[in-house]
Amino acid sequence: MDNEAQRAFRRARATTRDLTRLARNPKCPTLRLGVAARVDFNAYLKARGAFAQGEQSPFALAFGNRFESRLHRDGELLKALVAASLVPEGDDAVLDLSAGAWNEAGLKARAARTADQLNEAHAGARAPRLMVHPVLPLPLGSDAPTLYVVPDALVRIDRVFRPVEIKSFPDLGARTDKESLRAARLQAAVQVLALRAVTRGIDPDAFVPPLAVLVLGRAGSLGPRAHVAEDLEGEIHQIETLAVPAWRLGILRERTLAEAHVAPAAGLDGEPVAYTERCASFCPLARSCRDRLRAERRVELLGDKPAKTLAPLSSIDAARAAVSDPSAAPPAAQGIAGELAEIARLVPLRPVR
Ligand code: SF4
Repeated sequence: MDNEAQRAFRRARATTRDLTRLARNPKCPTLRLGVAARVDFNAYLKARGAFAQGEQSPFALAFGNRFESRLHRDGELLKALVAASLVPEGDDAVLDLSAGAWNEAGLKARAARTADQLNEAHAGARAPRLMVHPVLPLPLGSDAPTLYVVPDALVRIDRVFRPVEIKSFPDLGARTDKESLRAARLQAAVQVLALRAVTRGIDPDAFVPPLAVLVLGRAGSLGPRAHVAEDLEGEIHQIETLAVPAWRLGILRERTLAEAHVAPAAGLDGEPVAYTERCASFCPLARSCRDRLRAERRVELLGDKPAKTLAPLSSIDAARAAVSDPSAAPPAAQGIAGELAEIARLVPLRPVR
């Protein structure tokens, strides 16, 4: 792959979503390399005649963008925060930090403006109630790039700013879509981490709690509903202990490939995958990975639980052979005859289409 083709597969910058994807499957070498090398998965799949999965449909994306724009444009965001009793009525000072280029220099300038506002608020000076699209740099370690996190907003509650994450899916209480909520909480966790990093630079002793404000669609209307997402510590832990180390592993792999003169996008084809049932909900490569598993007749196609039990076997065919004649199973699978029989009963080991 020449340099020009390589550039076509590379995105300009890494995003919060990259980090949250890694938190969902840090064991997948393909995802790690793709994220660390900023591979544009859509361009990569298109060049191979394949389709992306796990992404929002263009319709859902446009609806979400319109929902967020309207909230900012018509002051509905502030009204939703007042309605949820998170901020008092009458303070509508909004600072829009959206202007500026999305390149390194532009993001740095916006990050400096955001830090100034946080600094002044911390010092007790008058600060806006709401900052729209602030920029919070999150260092990921000396061997990884700084991630510029751009929350939808920061809201000042009792002199302290909190991240605000806007999503257009409806808030249905206990029946709210779990996967969407999980993704939103992970995004909010990254924003808390970034806010902590910036706040530490202002006052090392300042405490930034593990909470953020989620603004979802109000069920049965096109309006918003705000609530505080508390106790994001679990998600923060997931980001710190799983996603960030996975990113660093991806960088190491990219460097090894570079030494062998292999471009990351070309390297993805040969990288192992660690497919799980949840991949389809967050990874654009899910469909292409399933095709690959089908071609290799891998046991992951049977589902997470059977795949874990059948891990000592190389393929579905090997599992079928072991079910029909346990004594001929490879030594590594000799201890799982009972489990094999149970799986064969529950999941017919037929050829998978
Ligand atoms: S879909 Fe494929 S690349 Fe993405 S996380 Fe799953 S196994 Fe990895």
